[in-house]
Amino acid sequence: MVIEILILLKNTCLFGDLLGSKVHKINVGKRSGNVYLYNKSIMIDAGMNPSRVLDGLKEFIKPEDLKIIILTHCHFDHFLAASRIKEKTGAKIYIHEDDSEYIETGDNVATAAIFFGQEAPKIKPDSLLSNSDEIQDLKVIHTPGHTEGSICLYDGEILFTGDTVFSNGRTGRTDLIGGDKNNLKHSLKKLSKLDVDKIYPGHGEISSGKSLKKAVERLK
Ligand SMILES: [Zn+2]
Ligand SMILES: [Zn+2]
Repeated sequence: MVIEILILLKNTCLFGDLLGSKVHKINVGKRSGNVYLYNKSIMIDAGMNPSRVLDGLKEFIKPEDLKIIILTHCHFDHFLAASRIKEKTGAKIYIHEDDSEYIETGDNVATAAIFFGQEAPKIKPDSLLSNSDEIQDLKVIHTPGHTEGSICLYDGEILFTGDTVFSNGRTGRTDLIGGDKNNLKHSLKKLSKLDVDKIYPGHGEISSGKSLKKAVERLK
């Protein structure tokens, strides 16, 4: 009995630790980029399926409590749902200044919409981000490489990495518009100097901060 309680406590703690109370991952399905809720008021990326994201959001907060949607970069699978979520919640859309043009003009190539056989919607961001901007506890780190205006978001402990770094040190492709391998190397070096407990990537699984150093090694 005691052992069972201990196992239960351990599992509960592990689960809590995995996502932390500050971050909730919204279940969005396979093709879409990951969508996270931070501090119960900021959405990191919007994914592709607005009704699914809104349903997921309601498990944690009331729609009107969402204040900001931060897009990690200008790709279709990360922002398609943003306008609808904004309509339903009133949240403002933020993106780095170097990627904003592509979503504003609905550029099918630069947003990678063509890979999904769809038209990119035109989205007018409410605010343009630059390196070192702060949004609540999150600091914007400009990490060009996957796209010109890719950003990571750091709160002193965890890092949202978009398509810059994934679990196990895999990195985003650099052969699309705005992609540049040397920029990515430089960005990864910058990230590897941070003290990061966990990374929350734009695709796949949440992983340890060691992924950053692995990524630098892999790209050498
Ligand atoms: Zn992506
Ligand atoms: Zn991408």
